Amino acid sequence: MKYFILFGPPGAGKGTHAAPLASKYNLKHLSTGELLRAEIAEGSELGKQAKELIDAGNLVPDEVVEGMISRAFGKYKEVDGFLLDGFPRTISQAHDLKEMLAARDEEVTAVISLMIPDEVIKERIAGRAKIEGRADDAKPEVIENRIRTYHAKTEALIELYKDEGLYHEIDGLGTIDEVQERVFKTVDSILGR
Ligand code: ATP
Ligand code: MG
Repeated sequence: MKYFILFGPPGAGKGTHAAPLASKYNLKHLSTGELLRAEIAEGSELGKQAKELIDAGNLVPDEVVEGMISRAFGKYKEVDGFLLDGFPRTISQAHDLKEMLAARDEEVTAVISLMIPDEVIKERIAGRAKIEGRADDAKPEVIENRIRTYHAKTEALIELYKDEGLYHEIDGLGTIDEVQERVFKTVDSILGR
């Protein structure tokens, strides 16, 4: 199985590029953000616990997202691999992912990182707020907090995965088609195609 991590700051386009990537390479797309929003919509206990944290732009506890990811790894067998979107988001999640995969005799295949500057993050999320109606996209102070959280807790993963030789950064600026072409080229070269 292949295990790709789709990495990048909030609003970088992970959700946008995940669907075509998953279908082209026969991967199961696992977005922790989408899984959490589905729990909230269902009104589950987990959703109730996560809602306040998400609406304030904070991360939910590691165990919560790791439980969702590990259940999904056990569930989908008819794919060539997984596309992780929004996970891992902390160093400890990255370590736990490594252990989860080692227990299955697997490892991370590559990290595909979509990079955009903070100013563009704000523009894109403001635009998306009008279309998708996400509570965590609506308030400028929440967006600021998510950007802060990204720099404080998530950005360190870049060095970690660079050290492992797994990190591939892609310029996330430009049209969706332009970025998609860069993403496909990168994944093709990783897979030796
Ligand atoms: P995108 O890059 O697709 O625009 P995003 O980064 O803005 O998305 P999501 O990935 O959808 O947002 O995540 C929304 C929220 O869900 C996060 O702000 C956080 O509260 C929670 N969340 C998602 N993934 C994790 C994770 N791995 N660990 C902790 N919290 C998470
Ligand atoms: Mg997302």
